[in-house]
Amino acid sequence: MASRKAILNWCDEILQTHTFKDYAPNGLQVEGREDTEHIVTAVTASRAAIHYAVEQQADMLLVHHGMFWKSEPLTVTGWKKERIAALLKHDINMAGYHLPLDAHPELGNNAQLAAIMGWKTEYCCGEQNLLNIGVPVEPITLAGLGKKLSETLQRKPVVIGSADKPVKRIAWCTGGAQGFFQTASDEGVDVYVTGEISEAQFHLAQETGTAFISAGHHATERYGIQALGKEIAQKFDVKVDFFDEQNPA
Ligand SMILES: [Zn+2]
Repeated sequence: MASRKAILNWCDEILQTHTFKDYAPNGLQVEGREDTEHIVTAVTASRAAIHYAVEQQADMLLVHHGMFWKSEPLTVTGWKKERIAALLKHDINMAGYHLPLDAHPELGNNAQLAAIMGWKTEYCCGEQNLLNIGVPVEPITLAGLGKKLSETLQRKPVVIGSADKPVKRIAWCTGGAQGFFQTASDEGVDVYVTGEISEAQFHLAQETGTAFISAGHHATERYGIQALGKEIAQKFDVKVDFFDEQNPA
C-alpha cells in the first residue's frame, strides 16, 4: 500500500510537470481515497476505462488523457457527469499526465514509441521540445516503415509519399500532433510520423517532399502510460495493470 499523495508527488517530480504549459490539469483531477493498493492505467479516462477500474476495485485510474480540457464546456453534464459520478461513487482517484508524459526522455510516449520501433533519438525541438528527430536502426523505405508501424502498433497507418522513398531521418510526435508537420519538414527529415492527419497535411507532403505517416492517436500513445505504471509498481508497494481499448482513431 502507498499513499496517493506520495505516488503523485513522485510522478510530478519525475515528469517535471511544473515546466509544461498544458491544455488540462496534470496530476490529480478527481479525488478518491488516500490509500492506494491497485492502480489501473489507460490512455484515456473513458467510461470503459472507469468501468474497468470499478470492476477491478482499483484505487486509482492513471491516464494520459484525463478530463477538463480547455476547449470543453465547464459544466458537469451528460457523459462527463456519468464519468465523474462513477469515480466518486467508488471513491477512485483519477489522475492524468498529458504533455509531461509525451515528452519524458525515457517514460514518455515519444521515447517509448522510438523504443518499440527501434528509432534512435538525436534531439528534440519545436513547441515545448515535443518534436523528436532521429534515425531508424537500419535503412528502410517509406513503405517498409509503414509496414513496420502497422505490425508493431496493430493498426494500419495512412502513408503519404512515394513507397520506395529511402528513410534516413525521421521526425515524430505521438498523438494529435499533425500541426507540427511544417516544423518537422523544416528540420530536413525524410518523414514525419504522428498519430493523426488533417486535410492540409496531404498537400504539404506533396509540396514539401517530406513524407507523412498518421499511425493512430491511441496506437502511438499506448506506451508512455504503461512505462510510467511499471516504474510506479517498482517504486511503490502497489499493483498496476493496463487497460487497453480498441480505438481506431
Ligand atoms: Zn494524446
